[in-house]
Amino acid sequence: MSGCGCSSSGLRPVDEAIAALMAFVPKAPPSVRVDLEDALGLVLAEDVQSPIDLPLWDNSAMDGYALRSADSGRLKITGCVAAGDAADVELRPGEAVRIFTGAPLPPGADSVVAQEDCDAEGDWLQAPAVAPGNHVRRRGEELCVGDALLSAGQKLRAQDLGLLASVGLDRVSVHRPLRVCLLSSGDELREPGEPLAPGQIYNANRFSIGALLRGWGMEVHDYGVLADTLAASRDALSLAASEWDVLITSGGVSVGERDYLKQAIRELGELHLWKLKMQPGKPLAFGSIAGKPWIGLPGNPAAALVTALVVARPFLWRAQGRRWAETLPITLPAGFDWPAANSRRQYLRARLELDSSGVARVRLHPQQGSAMLRAASWADGLAVVEAGRTLCAGELLPFLSFSELGA
Ligand code: AMP
Ligand code: MG
Repeated sequence: MSGCGCSSSGLRPVDEAIAALMAFVPKAPPSVRVDLEDALGLVLAEDVQSPIDLPLWDNSAMDGYALRSADSGRLKITGCVAAGDAADVELRPGEAVRIFTGAPLPPGADSVVAQEDCDAEGDWLQAPAVAPGNHVRRRGEELCVGDALLSAGQKLRAQDLGLLASVGLDRVSVHRPLRVCLLSSGDELREPGEPLAPGQIYNANRFSIGALLRGWGMEVHDYGVLADTLAASRDALSLAASEWDVLITSGGVSVGERDYLKQAIRELGELHLWKLKMQPGKPLAFGSIAGKPWIGLPGNPAAALVTALVVARPFLWRAQGRRWAETLPITLPAGFDWPAANSRRQYLRARLELDSSGVARVRLHPQQGSAMLRAASWADGLAVVEAGRTLCAGELLPFLSFSELGA
C-alpha cells in the first residue's frame, strides 16, 4: 500500500494506526449456543431479554412478620412461611404470619415488620405501625418480562452469568472463539525448561501473548518457533493463513537482515502498515495474506506486550465480535518528572500509589527498556506521555489500567 507509513522514515501515530487496522476487522466468528457453565469470557451474539418478571412474586426482604399495614399493636400469629414455601393461606385483619427472607408474601398481607422491630410472645405479636410495602420486594421491581438484560457484543462476566441464571436462562448464543495462530520468530528462542546453548534465550512472548489471547476468550493455535529464513516464514504464514482467522507473530519485523516477515507478507499478500510512533513498539507491522489479517508484534518482550494491548487488542476484540473495544484512560497526577520530550508517544509501565493525603498518583518503574518485562509484571498499567510532552510531578496524564486492557 503506498503512502501507508511503510517507508523506513515514516512513523504512524498510534491512533491513526489503530483506525487503519480497524478497517480490516473481519466478520465476527459464527454464533453457537452454549451452556451457561461454558460461557464465561465469551462474547454474546444476541440481545437477551428477560423471559420472566423478577422477582416473580411479592416476597419478604427480611426475617420478621407479614401483616396488613392497616394493622398495628397486638396481632395474632397464625402461621409461618419460609423461603421455598407456597403462601396460600389468606391473612385476615388482626393477624400476622411469621415470615423469612425470600418467602412469598401471604395473600392479604402488604407489609413486613422486621423481627428486631417488634416483640413476639407465644402466638402474639406487638407490632409497630408500618407503611404499605415495608420490607417487601415487589413482583417485577427489578425486571419485567421483555426488559433488556444484556446486549450482543458484550463479553460475559461472572455477574452477567448470574443475571442470566436468575431469570432461568441456561443457554446463550455466543460467538465461537476467534482462532488465532501464534508464531514466535527467532533462531535464538528456546522454550522454558530446555537448556540454553550460547546465544540462546527463552521464548517469553509465546507465553505473554498467548495468555493475553486466551484471557480475551480466543483460541490460540501455537505454531511454535519460526526459523529466521524467508522460506520458513513464507511456508508457516501461508499454512497459518489457510487454517486460522488471524495470524500473530512476534519478532522478525525490525530492520535487521534476518527480519524476513515483512518480505514474506509482501510476497504472499499485502503489507498495510509498518512502524508506529510509539515507545516501546516502533516496529509493529500489519498486513494480510489470503484475506487473513496478520499482526507482526515486535520481538522485544515489553514491546510485544504493549503493542498487543494497545494496538492489537482493539482489532482482536472487534474481530471476536465485541462491540466495545475502546478503553477510557483515567486521568491522574504524575508522581514523577519527565523533563525531556520524546519524539514518540510513551507507554510507560506504571503503578498507582497514594500520596500522604490519600490521592492516587502514577509511579513509574525505573526499568522502561523494551526488552524488560519485569516492569510490566510490577505495574498496574500504562502511563501515557504524548510525543513532545514534558511533565512535572503533579501534572495530569492518562493512565490505562491493565485490568481495563484485559491483562
Ligand atoms: P527481532 O525483532 O526479531 O530482532 O527481536 C528483537 C529482540 O527481541 C531480540 O533481542 C530478540 O532476541 C528478542 N525476542 C524476539 N522474540 C522473542 C521472544 N519470543 N521472547 C523473548 N525475546 C524475544
Ligand atoms: Mg529475530
